Order: sequence, then structure tokens, then C-alpha cells
Amino acid sequence: MNINLPFKKLRENSTKFTTKYTSERLCPICDKRKHEKLEILRKFQFFTDSRLPKKINFQTVRCKLCQIIYQNPAYNKKGLNILFKEAGMSYGTTLKSKKNQISWLKKNNLLKKNIKVLDVGCFDGSFLSLMPKYVIKFGVEIDKSVIEEAKKKFKKISFINGNFENFRTKEKFNLITMMHVLEHLLNPEKVLKNLFKISKKKTILVIEVPIIENHMSNSLDGFITTQHMTHFSKNSLNNLLAKCGWKILRSKTIKNYNGYRVTCEKSSEINKKINVNVNRERQLYKKYKKKHLLSLRSINKRISKFKVGPKTILCGGGQHLELFYLLTKFFKLSSHSTFVIIDSDIKKTGKSWRGIKILNFETLKNIRNLNKYKFIISSYAYQNEILRNLKNLKIHSSNILKIYKKIKRY
Ligand SMILES: [Zn+2]
Repeated sequence: MNINLPFKKLRENSTKFTTKYTSERLCPICDKRKHEKLEILRKFQFFTDSRLPKKINFQTVRCKLCQIIYQNPAYNKKGLNILFKEAGMSYGTTLKSKKNQISWLKKNNLLKKNIKVLDVGCFDGSFLSLMPKYVIKFGVEIDKSVIEEAKKKFKKISFINGNFENFRTKEKFNLITMMHVLEHLLNPEKVLKNLFKISKKKTILVIEVPIIENHMSNSLDGFITTQHMTHFSKNSLNNLLAKCGWKILRSKTIKNYNGYRVTCEKSSEINKKINVNVNRERQLYKKYKKKHLLSLRSINKRISKFKVGPKTILCGGGQHLELFYLLTKFFKLSSHSTFVIIDSDIKKTGKSWRGIKILNFETLKNIRNLNKYKFIISSYAYQNEILRNLKNLKIHSSNILKIYKKIKRY
């Protein structure tokens, strides 16, 4: 069978701009408005084209008092609803990271027999399911449909469907875990205070977040990614935890991905005083920025060397493609080309992005002589997987643009 692919030119104005999905946000630590602008991503389109407006401005600011870096304006509840309907709330942790976290919990004697463990932001329960059978498992997640699926999959885990900011439970937990969740939340302070409220005197809280000190991601959006609401440093995380009544007992930096893990217990007093070394925090951002610009430069170099013809296949139709449009010179250099998008997520099949049709990856299997097209891989986490799939279809590497030398996945 041979079918014609619906190649189209890129359209800039496929969706409208709106300010309805974003709201002003106060400093997540001081609750103040005093901030300075650091960077802005203008007219960022989140996911596919639609009749509803989909373009927003993303701005990153720094609090003038405590120096924490955060998105402001950020998605509001309305914006998040639309975003999650399309993207879901899983951020795609690898099995390896989950296993590492659990063996670390075991090593630190935090998974004792018959203790009650609560995972906050448990998603489908897969992290809890990897914990030993001798602990009693609970998970809280806001997405009802995810919880329903999770219940069917893992019968021994008790799932709570609730908002992290105000859910209540009669259970008292020995251990609460929250891995790479805090940085995604609109109001991390409310969540940490709620966890304080539902905890016993001796409850241990283990939190992991990426921190600017590790800024090791070479991806297009770098450490200050559009997926995070707050961009922590060791210091800003300390200040936030202290304000919510948590005292850090131990901390650990994870070397193979950007992770900073802290073990906390309830403090006897709430410390509202903010400790900050302003110069150190500013240096951290400068250092990160310099490195990020270097990786953008090397990505653009690879793009300049790759020549596309009249028909180009973009592989990956997620947020990365939007960043590829906004942050690199690819589409400016390829304005003579027409495009289709290939994505293996069936939820995207049949939709479009900036006027370009999204087809399922399987479609390629019905096309003869694929080497007459050029292929652009637009994904960070799945770059190597996509590359393997393209090679399985006998596409020459000279027809494929891969923009990252190395992938560092959480
Ligand atoms: Zn502040």
C-alpha cells in the first residue's frame, strides 16, 4: 500500500493568544510581589491547534527578597485543566530512577515492616508498587480517572483522590514521599503545610526536586523548563520547608539525573526567618544561563549543518516541538519546506500543530521509499527510541537530524 502524506507549510497563526489561562503569582516563599524579570517565552503554544486560544506568555522571575526563581504569571487552574486534559499528569519517570529511590529508602532504614507510607502525587501507583510488600501503601492523586485505573491495577494500595493542598485522611503515616512533584505545584507552601497537618510527631517526609546547582539538562528548555512552576536551589528549598514547619535531617544530590533529595521531620518551632546569600543565588543563575546558552548554540550548529528538502517529517509532536520552534532557527532555515508530524501518542493522531497534521507513527510503515524525506527528531526523553524506530524502517542516518549528543533522563 502506498499513501500520500498531507505535507503542509507551517502556519504562525493557527491559534490565538490569551491571558485567560495564566495568573499573577506571589513569591512561593515570602508571598510578596517584589520580583525582577529573568526571562520570557512569548506566545508559547501549549500543544495542538484548537479553536480555543492556546498561546500564552511564560515569564520567569526572581523574588527580590528570598531570591527564589519561579514562573509568574503561571498557568492558573483554568489553564492547568486544559493542559492536563491534553497532556495527562505523568511526567514519565524511568523505572531505573524509581528503583534507585526505593533502594535508597531501604538503605536508610525508612521502609520498616508494617509502616504506613503515603506517596504524594502517586499517579498510577507504579512507584508504590515497587516498594516491598511488608509496608502498608497509600497514594494521593488529584486526577480521578488515573486513580480509577490505578485501583484496578494495584489492589493492595489504598488510593486517595484529593487535592494535595487540602486532602484529609484518618490514617497516620510513618513515611511520606513526594518525588519530583513540588516543582510542578502552583502553591507548594499550602501543600507542605497540609502534609505537616496530617503528619504525626515522628512522620518522616522525603522530598526530591531538581535544583539549579545541578543544572545538568542539555535539553532545549534547560533547567528553567515550562513544565515547572518553581525552580529551586538548595537554599530556596530549605527556606520553604522551614517556613512550613519542616526541618531537614539529611540531604543527598543524585548524580545521574538532576535530583536533590531531603529527609525531613517536624520541627518544634516554625522558622519564618529567611536565610539567603543573595550573591550566591545570583551566581548560580548566571552560571546556569551561560551553560544553557552554550547548549542552545551547539543545537543550532547541528541544525545549520542539516539541509532539508521540500518534504520534512517531524518526529515528536509534544511540547518539545514548540520549543524547537521558539528557541532554534530550524523553521526559519526551513521556510521552503512542507511538513507532517509523526507521533506515537494516539491522543494526538488527527490533530494539528501550527497548521501541520499529526499522524501516528504506524503510518510510516505503509510508505514506500522513506529515504526521499528528511526526518527531524523533536523529543528529548524519547530521542533515542525514535532514532531506533526510524532505523528499523531502514532510514539512512544522513536523512535524520538528531539534536542531542547525550540524554540525561530522570
Ligand atoms: Zn520571596
